[in-house]
Amino acid sequence: MAELMGPRLYSCCNCRNQVALHDDVISKAFQGRNGRAFLFSHAMNVVVGPKEDRQLMTGLHTVADVYCNDCREVLGWKYERAYEETQKYKEGKFILEKSKIVKENW
Ligand SMILES: [Zn+2]
Repeated sequence: MAELMGPRLYSCCNCRNQVALHDDVISKAFQGRNGRAFLFSHAMNVVVGPKEDRQLMTGLHTVADVYCNDCREVLGWKYERAYEETQKYKEGKFILEKSKIVKENW
């Protein structure tokens, strides 16, 4: 039963712009501004805003808000820099809020 299916994706909740691949999920155990959030190794079709230092639960990070490049909905943020050694693995990775993305092809 080989079925040809596209990759499992996450899309913007607002305009269905495809923003991330399920295969790029690193962790589903993150905390966003409004509840659960997922950590992704890549995101696509997004705009990264200006960098700013933010004190998070896990220490000081340089982060940038991530917007849908279509409707400009804020979807999450990107970790540009982590100052704590244990948090370095998050650098260059994307947080997308679970409430802002919807599943496609599942
Ligand atoms: Zn959108």
